[in-house]
Amino acid sequence: MSDENKIWLSSPHMGGAELDYVRQAFESNWIAPLGPQLDAFEKELAAYLGAKAAAALSSGTAALHLALLLLGVSPGDRVLVSSFTFVASASPIKYCGAEPVFVDSESSTWNMSPVHLESAIKSCVKQGKKPKAAVLVDLYGMPCSFRELQAVCEKYDIPIIEDAAEGLGSSYAGRKLGTFGVLGVLSFNGNKMITTSGGGALVSDDSELLARAQFLATQARDSAPHYQHSVIGYNYRMSNILAAIGRGQLEVLDSHVAARRANYQFYLDNLAKRDGISMLAEPEASISNRWLSCILVDPTKTGGKSAEDVRLHLEQHNVESRPLWKPLHLQPVFAENQYFGDGTCEELFAEGLCLPSGSSLREEDLGRISTLILNYLD
Ligand SMILES: *Cc1c(COP(=O)(O)O)cnc(C)c1O
Repeated sequence: MSDENKIWLSSPHMGGAELDYVRQAFESNWIAPLGPQLDAFEKELAAYLGAKAAAALSSGTAALHLALLLLGVSPGDRVLVSSFTFVASASPIKYCGAEPVFVDSESSTWNMSPVHLESAIKSCVKQGKKPKAAVLVDLYGMPCSFRELQAVCEKYDIPIIEDAAEGLGSSYAGRKLGTFGVLGVLSFNGNKMITTSGGGALVSDDSELLARAQFLATQARDSAPHYQHSVIGYNYRMSNILAAIGRGQLEVLDSHVAARRANYQFYLDNLAKRDGISMLAEPEASISNRWLSCILVDPTKTGGKSAEDVRLHLEQHNVESRPLWKPLHLQPVFAENQYFGDGTCEELFAEGLCLPSGSSLREEDLGRISTLILNYLD
């Protein structure tokens, strides 16, 4: 079969208005790192989230790096972060010369466990190294247990950075994800909820912090007619052209959320009724964008067939699926770093599989995938 028939995990999905905004940028010759599309995108993004301000950047990874710098994370510091996440939640901690301290997941959200978070903090405090910040990740779009996590962080006075790279369009207790930390991080990479081909954003209710982020993201130029610099900056701004794509994508974000939630519901109705397959339910107060629909496969109930067996079977039939994130405390690059937990994320990694979840999937695609899985397990 050719790639044309391949069903991908999570494809870009344009709405239509993107090209109009890009054309506006071309016609006004704003082919530059700054410009009116960028300003408009930031305003529209902040308004969508109900946040005071947003700064559009070159990637979610850059946004996290700036967030850590803005909270003063320096060489030798410790920063708490979920183990069960994409590597980019933790690499920026290393860019700062700091050390990630990995925390296990809870099974009700797959996100950071408040219980293990407190153990990690207590242990660090005992060693005289109170963590400088906590990076809370909304994995696969599922909101963290913010009420509990915020209570722990407040108790020890540790600021929160919310890594909502996968959580755009989700909400918790009526508030959009991305707004639960001092700083929130979004990603517009090609496979995320909406895309600018590549890009990210920092979100905050603290306008001064965000102004500082924009300053650092544009080479930290002091105000002077010549080029004058008192601190080291970065080239982390989003370009005006890519912001134009982002404006068009924002207009279809809610329809993308609806489509991905419908994918999840289809898989739930068709797959989760089979013994041995389960899916993560939405806890009360949480609405997930269902960025990726994931199944857990229990080999003791499938005659020994594992999630990896299912993945290989789908691959043979031109369907892309992917294991859940490999816990970061198991990654060779983080072998020296501390981990607090009881292996919940390791179990999820062993049993989980992300199924195709794009917002442009057709019902016949979902039907084909489900039938492939059910026939294989029978
Ligand atoms: C995608 C992602 C990032 C990084 O975003 P980029 O825009 O790709 O740099 C960070 N954290 C998580 C959880 C992600 O999924």
